[in-house]
Amino acid sequence: MEIPQLVASQQLYFRTDQTRDVSKRREALKKLRKAIASNEKNIAKALEQDLGKAKAEAYMTETGIALTSLRYFIRNIRTLAKDKKAKTPVTLMPGKCRIVAEPYGCTLIIAPWNYPFLLAIDPLIAAVAAGNCAIVKPSEMAPATSQVIADIIKSCFEPDWVAVCQGGIETSEALLKERFDYIFYTGSPRVGKIVMQHAAMHLTPVTLELGGKSPCIIDETADIEVAVRRTVFGKVVNAGQTCVAPDYLLVHQSWRDRLPEVFKAQSELLLGEKPLESKEYTHIINRKHFDRLTAYLQDGKVLAGGDIRTDTLTITPTLLEVSDPNVSVMQEEIFGPILPVIFYEHISEVYEYVRSHEKPLALYLFSTDYSVIDYVMHNIPFGGGCINDTLMHVATHHLPFGGIGNSGMGQYHGQWGFETFTHQKSVVMKPLAGDLSFRYPPYTWKKLRLIKFFLR
Ligand code: NAD
Repeated sequence: MEIPQLVASQQLYFRTDQTRDVSKRREALKKLRKAIASNEKNIAKALEQDLGKAKAEAYMTETGIALTSLRYFIRNIRTLAKDKKAKTPVTLMPGKCRIVAEPYGCTLIIAPWNYPFLLAIDPLIAAVAAGNCAIVKPSEMAPATSQVIADIIKSCFEPDWVAVCQGGIETSEALLKERFDYIFYTGSPRVGKIVMQHAAMHLTPVTLELGGKSPCIIDETADIEVAVRRTVFGKVVNAGQTCVAPDYLLVHQSWRDRLPEVFKAQSELLLGEKPLESKEYTHIINRKHFDRLTAYLQDGKVLAGGDIRTDTLTITPTLLEVSDPNVSVMQEEIFGPILPVIFYEHISEVYEYVRSHEKPLALYLFSTDYSVIDYVMHNIPFGGGCINDTLMHVATHHLPFGGIGNSGMGQYHGQWGFETFTHQKSVVMKPLAGDLSFRYPPYTWKKLRLIKFFLR
């Protein structure tokens, strides 16, 4: 079906009110869960084909999270979809205040290539739970996964409820020309701006899940072994091609001598002595990104790692000392296993550096100094993060996930996904009898006194 016809058919379907039926939404989510579970092997195979992802990592970071998300929504959808009571002030009595979760209608979900299954399916789960129709545009750079997504969705939904449009930028552009009721975009800040421009034409609300440079700070009070192990883990998962991967390190100078040896030891612990031969290690998505990443190795002094394999597009976890913060590796989102490090003397330099750059999607701090922890948590803006860990704040549906400023707007995961895909409609329900007469003109001085009493 052509894109304009598909959008029109979804709009018609939405108006039949069938997607508002909570039992029907729940059944659809159950069906989707069954389809994903029975396609676990196909998903793993596609992720292996597109990114060389190991089976365990594919389950841990994509399929498993999608299934957990489905379980959450299947269990909680009735509570989430229920009208919420709100307090009723005396001035609105006798009456009752309610908040109704109104599905937006026809939604568009555009996904990137780095977690190509999860980042297409997870927002979709929230969109369906919230009672919407949806068109999903997976990434053309992960074609095998894109096909599996299309097959799964086709087996679970009629296209006028949920459909998948595969293709590249031209498909995205054709979709963005249409009028949607909500757009959920995950990808780069550059394309995020294009998406928002299109959305502005129709005043369509958007969620933008973007990326950027996420700092990782190790101060002098940190446990260096734990800090480096968890940081290397954050860079090894998906070979650092993770929006919330630690992008660069800011490390207290007291660790200057020990850092390279600990980094090397922890990398070996995770990937063995020959990471480039490890079957557990994801490759870089394509030659263009591989070349971009290997060029960064010229931006500083390699302290550990630095090996590459052009035939398999793999790069070892690499620690790169940078003395000039203006080099490319410190200006662009790295999105690979290279970790530049800048050493600092005083923590105030770290605060100044992070605050003078774009607000990051994630921030990680390794410290046991509560004054530093408290300051970072309450005074430095970032989307989300961890104290003494990396990545883990995204692994729970009890925390909202989303960026701020250049790293995005809006949030999802768990109840926040449901809220993102619904408008919170406020309603005052009044009985016919009973009224506060002073609200009506003509306004006498007595009425004004009453108005002032209530509105003080
Ligand atoms: P991208 O922005 O290049 O592409 C994402 C999607 O947008 C793809 O489906 C693509 O087809 C489409 N697209 C590309 N160019 C377009 C255009 N001109 N007009 C309309 N649509 C277009 O991003 P990517 O390279 O796939 O992903 C990497 C980026 O995504 C990184 O910046 C990363 O940090 C970010 N990311 C963010 C999150 C998050 O949850 N915040 C998650 C994963 C990735």
